[in-house]
Amino acid sequence: MNSTRIAVLGAAGRMGRAVIQAAATAGLPLGAAFERVGAAELQRDAGELAGLETAGVRIGSDVRAALADFDVLVDFTRPEGTLAALEACVEGGRGMVIGTTGFSAEQQAAIEAAAQRIPIVKAGNFSLGVNLCLHLLEQAAAALGEDFDVEIVEAHHKHKVDAPSGTALMMGEAVARGAGKVLAEHAVYERYGHTGARSRGAIGFSTVRGGDVVGDHTVMFLGEGERVEITHKASSRLNFANGAVRAARWLQGRAPGLYSMRDVIGG
Ligand code: NAD
Repeated sequence: MNSTRIAVLGAAGRMGRAVIQAAATAGLPLGAAFERVGAAELQRDAGELAGLETAGVRIGSDVRAALADFDVLVDFTRPEGTLAALEACVEGGRGMVIGTTGFSAEQQAAIEAAAQRIPIVKAGNFSLGVNLCLHLLEQAAAALGEDFDVEIVEAHHKHKVDAPSGTALMMGEAVARGAGKVLAEHAVYERYGHTGARSRGAIGFSTVRGGDVVGDHTVMFLGEGERVEITHKASSRLNFANGAVRAARWLQGRAPGLYSMRDVIGG
């Protein structure tokens, strides 16, 4: 019986509340819950806010002051929130599950540096189905080769603040890996006006934002006279939350390092 005590950063957010629900279902105790300074939900009961019977944990804002209350911090917030909590977790020797997306290259480097001191699972998408799709995409790209043009189309709810989604980027990485190339050298994130013809080997991204779409991703391999599409559609945030809770349980007691969902699912 694993009794990993988790803490949730962004406890009042859409994902934070889903993680609190998923942890309760999985039987993992909630040790602490945090929100940003000034959030309206500070001092509210985190379980109650997530629609559960009261969990007895009030939402605070100071991760450093509550390090003794948890083993692994699960983060679905904004990059600046992640980075501040990362410092506290390094000081306290606590593991982190990072679901937040939209990091700059410097922020990503800071996460990599912290992972030399504490174990971190970071994933742009914690769903099992998406992680299966990443495998399939790598295989498809290797098998179909450069005669097939790759376009990635994603749709999310109107509140999402970064684009393309972390998942779309992971899918682009999987395609690039399968094709034996580097995504940054082939990605096309914008097209407007006289763009010229499509360059061979490009990996194009298109973004749709609106309504309450939880997360749809389609990768098209467009050839002469045929096309292959690999699609994933999320219908509930609980699938991400369940994956994050599984990652938190897996993480406890691991050596420092930056792990992915592939590591979690693989063992
Ligand atoms: P949200 O806006 O509903 O929730 C974010 C919460 O974080 C809010 O309650 C906000 O007050 C809080 N917050 C913001 N800055 C903070 C800070 N500095 N310190 C502490 N708390 C802070 O957003 P959401 O839909 O729950 O998504 C959150 C993040 O998770 C986004 O980056 C999103 O892209 C990502 N996400 C990842 C996955 C995945 O599987 N990896 C799935 C869904 C969403």
